[in-house]
Amino acid sequence: MIIALKPGVSKEEIAKLIADLEVLGVKVDSSQGASQVVLGLVGDTTVINDDALRANRFVDRVIRVQEPYKRANRLFHPLDTVLEFQSNGKSAKIGGGNFAVIAGPCSVESREQLVSIAADVKKSGAAFLRGGAFKPRTSPYSFQGMGCEGIDLLVEAKKATGLPIVTEVMEISQIKLFDEVDIIQVGARNMQNFNLLKELGRIKKPILLKRGMASTMTELLMAAEYVMAGGNSQIVLCERGIRGFDNFTRNILDIAIIPALKKKTHLPVIVDPSHATGLSWMVPTMSKAAIAAGADGIIVEVHNDPEHALCDGEQSLTPELFDNLMNTLRKYAALEEKVI
Ligand code: PEP
Ligand code: MN
Repeated sequence: MIIALKPGVSKEEIAKLIADLEVLGVKVDSSQGASQVVLGLVGDTTVINDDALRANRFVDRVIRVQEPYKRANRLFHPLDTVLEFQSNGKSAKIGGGNFAVIAGPCSVESREQLVSIAADVKKSGAAFLRGGAFKPRTSPYSFQGMGCEGIDLLVEAKKATGLPIVTEVMEISQIKLFDEVDIIQVGARNMQNFNLLKELGRIKKPILLKRGMASTMTELLMAAEYVMAGGNSQIVLCERGIRGFDNFTRNILDIAIIPALKKKTHLPVIVDPSHATGLSWMVPTMSKAAIAAGADGIIVEVHNDPEHALCDGEQSLTPELFDNLMNTLRKYAALEEKVI
């Protein structure tokens, strides 16, 4: 249930109203909108008398939310959530009219590889560096990532370039290794690892939550709700392609979920054109589609030697192609009035 208050209600009146509601056993979160305060009620709201609330002189509107997600719901939080970072001495934002570019290799493979790619993507204008240290591979015989050493190399690259780093966590026991990581990625395969999501709700770090390969939009939003219910609302959602019947592309990029998510939630939404298509030559076109559809950014794989990459070479752009892509995206971002 959402209660929009009239503009200009005093802090004391709001606190009193919240206290009266909480006595009934519901949890109340308040959020400041552009001109009014919005209260989000979580719990058994059947005990609440809508008519009495509507009669309250401080209440503007009372809305019963049908969707099972409350904290992630735009009804409860009408303004876009914007996450802010320091990138190379400048502010870099995700959400709210900004277009964030996260780039780097699928996996951290060596110091030389990471240093070289990090310098290249920074030069081209990426604001964030990605790289997998713990890799969820389909085959147990494939490269599993460098683990802790990979995290250390990412932190080194962050110090050298000033770029915030994004890397994937696979299990709860690894979280303690992510102190210096700026954005913790939850991969498609872990989107419904509810114990992991609950644990990430307890920490104060931005989470990049990728859509599961067979998950609905509501399931993705409920996964975000798990993290938010624990108290962490710094979440970026990522569409990375879903399973379809045609294997021409690695996955099917669900472009339509971007406007749908932007309508339903205030959380930023980015696109991963690399895992969505599996083909590097499609990445520029799909990145342009992402901007046009209203995405808040992209996460793209870039490798200095795709032919010898230990993981996902076929979908990785070379630094030169990534540089071309950034030049194109700057033009598209200007058309969409986004800050890149
Ligand atoms: C990745 O970003 O490296 C990755 C494994 O992505 P996904 O979880 O979307 O497959
Ligand atoms: Mn990959």
